[in-house]
Amino acid sequence: MNIKNNIIEAIGHTDLIKIPSLSELTGSHIYLKCEYQNPGGSIKDRAARQMVLEAIESGQLKPGMTIVEGTAGNTGIGLALVARALGFNMLVVMPKGQSLEKQRLIELYGAQLKLVDPCPFADPNHFYHTAKRLADQQADYWWADQFENTANAQAHYNTTGPEIWQQTDGRVSTVVSVSGTGGTIAGVTQYLKKQNNTIKTWLVDPDGSGLYHYLKTGQFKASGDSFTEGIGIMRAVANFKQAQVDCAINLPDQDLVALSRHLLHHDSILLGSSGALNVAGAIFAAAQGPKNQHIVTFACDLGERSFSKLYNPKFLQDRHISLPPDNIQNLFNRYKTMADLIVTNS
Ligand code: PMP
Repeated sequence: MNIKNNIIEAIGHTDLIKIPSLSELTGSHIYLKCEYQNPGGSIKDRAARQMVLEAIESGQLKPGMTIVEGTAGNTGIGLALVARALGFNMLVVMPKGQSLEKQRLIELYGAQLKLVDPCPFADPNHFYHTAKRLADQQADYWWADQFENTANAQAHYNTTGPEIWQQTDGRVSTVVSVSGTGGTIAGVTQYLKKQNNTIKTWLVDPDGSGLYHYLKTGQFKASGDSFTEGIGIMRAVANFKQAQVDCAINLPDQDLVALSRHLLHHDSILLGSSGALNVAGAIFAAAQGPKNQHIVTFACDLGERSFSKLYNPKFLQDRHISLPPDNIQNLFNRYKTMADLIVTNS
């Protein structure tokens, strides 16, 4: 029998699939780690499980307590799922304006949802500070703190990285990832570079995030903005600090919109917005490097979670994002000439 004893054991062990159209276009193997297959529909289930299990083991989280977290949504869903499965209460603090799909799920899992106005990190009402404050006020609340709690990166060091290594039979040559807390990119790059330190690691950063500039200059600075959710940061956090990043690229929403349609039409893959940005980054890495790379990137969450923005023509129109003719060859050619956007950090 091959049976998981509970839903938590079903987290991880996601498929790695080749993206045929892009592998053909680029001359490299481009693979997608299907993190939407996790029970809560995103890569954050892995971090949620690890943070909770470590807190139980260290005695910080005891039966009857409430888990508190500030999140753009996917960590809230993962934690709500894990909390319910293990018998904890859950309180999620989320900024308004994230997709309704995610809010609805958090409530379906029985978590209490507190919505706060979006504001800069320096504002004490930011969802991060609000979650911390609420947890500080109650002895039976435990704050998961996905940004500073490195159990988050540990989840990917223990599971995501080894899965990629095994699934590619050690052939992975390049890994490309966005960063929200940095948990994924930190855990995966640390694990893979330990197996083979010639593996090239790429950060792909949306507009409105300061990580690209930070890696380039040491300063957090952003330009423009992005409708992607859950990715991009404007400060150094413990999880991202562990990442071993060789190269970074900043790409606009326009590119991920184009790729999302291309993958849907050519490969029947429905990506969420961060997954589409990851795939843009993978094409960039293919364009900049030799042929025949084995490039791994992530479909971080379910495409359905992006219905109200990425797949909503009215939303895109209001943001003046056009749906260009499907011409990924042009994008690939353009990426070949964009060498000035690379930074090397090693
Ligand atoms: N994609 C989506 C849709 C997310 O919600 C997140 C996490 N907020 C990420 C990517 C990034 O993951 P990480 O926190 O591991 O950097």
